[in-house]
Amino acid sequence: MLKKLPLWVKIFIGMGLGILVGLVAVWTSLEDFTINWIKPWGNIFLKLLKLIAVPLIFVSLVKGISSLSNISKLSRIGMKTIGIYLVTTLIATTVGLGLVNLIKPGDVFPEERQQEYRDRFLEDVSAKQLFADEMQGQSPLRFLEDMIPENIVFAAGDNSKMLQVIFFAILFAISMVLVPADKTVVVRRFFDGLNDIILKIIDLIMRFAPVGVLALMAGLIVDFSGDSELFSALGMYMLTAILGLLMLILIFYPALIRLFTGIKPGSFLRGILPAQLVAFSTSSSAATLPVTLKQVTNEFKVSKTVGNFVLPVGVTINMDGTSCYQAVAAVFIAQVFGMDLTISQQLSIVLLATLASIGSPGVPGGSIVMLIVVLTSVGIPVEGLALILGVDRPIDMLRTVVNITGDSTVASIVAKSEGEIGVEETQEE
Ligand code: ASP
Repeated sequence: MLKKLPLWVKIFIGMGLGILVGLVAVWTSLEDFTINWIKPWGNIFLKLLKLIAVPLIFVSLVKGISSLSNISKLSRIGMKTIGIYLVTTLIATTVGLGLVNLIKPGDVFPEERQQEYRDRFLEDVSAKQLFADEMQGQSPLRFLEDMIPENIVFAAGDNSKMLQVIFFAILFAISMVLVPADKTVVVRRFFDGLNDIILKIIDLIMRFAPVGVLALMAGLIVDFSGDSELFSALGMYMLTAILGLLMLILIFYPALIRLFTGIKPGSFLRGILPAQLVAFSTSSSAATLPVTLKQVTNEFKVSKTVGNFVLPVGVTINMDGTSCYQAVAAVFIAQVFGMDLTISQQLSIVLLATLASIGSPGVPGGSIVMLIVVLTSVGIPVEGLALILGVDRPIDMLRTVVNITGDSTVASIVAKSEGEIGVEETQEE
């Protein structure tokens, strides 16, 4: 009977059991056992997903772009995708900024805790500060420069360089379209086969997902068990961030989906749920990409051509949850330090958080370093980061859910506008 359950139900059960196992381990002092014998299974699941991320991004982008037989269609879809990504990210940042100004979570922060956590996280903060300092004072075009790989093998060997892999994949695929079709027949067939093999690998990895998610959740609960006081002290901040993120998931995206694709919001949320659950437990939108791709093409019947292009690009540049959270975090820290931000500072936060989310890698805690860049650029004390680091993980989990939901929404909108919804055969389960 367990075999017949759909994957998302199994993942859900895995998550519930993981929380239970974690709590029982804390109550019965079995933390070490959990860390040594259960958590590694979660790490194995995470590594399997990361393992397939670079090949998947490369192959799916090449397949997606090269199947667009003409360059004008390609550039139209490209412009549309990036344009909609930018608009949704700007709106998400504004939602975060509006909420944090309305709720003012920083005003209720107890002073003694500030000092305590500043001391406790000083090391973490200064390590990250070092990196951010390096990034400061660089040319504003640095991000463009960083996008071009010097050596594609090195780029492919470093998961934080996915943007470079994307750049190469796009260049490769565009050239493929420009070369006469009869010369690329073999290459196309090769990529078709490769794509099927990678999808099969993902299918196999996902069978392990319920166990992986169970182990990840149990490990997380044990890791955070000693910090219950911190959780309550930062409750208001977390609540504000969570409220903003939930508004995006439950109101903003369903409204866009209804308005621009005609898909029912309920079906949309149900269809995307398995990917959301994986995003929630892995905190990595890059690791979740295989599942997002599968759900969007299977459930919403978005063509593979559009899905294979829009989603991998979205994983690296479209992070609505991240930008919303960065706005909340930056203003919260300013409030804690008693700073009154001017309108122009607030506007810079919107712009910087949007840009910073584009530059954040889709890995757990990927945006923390970028947050330092936002803070320093607006003149908010970076030490404030120490206050929020301890509670970052649960928010990271939720913002990753928002990130992949945003990608899926835009993929569906682009597909609809191109008449690419429900026209191609879908991937098998
Ligand atoms: N964990 C996020 C993601 O993978 C990135 C971040 O906001 O830290 O989407």
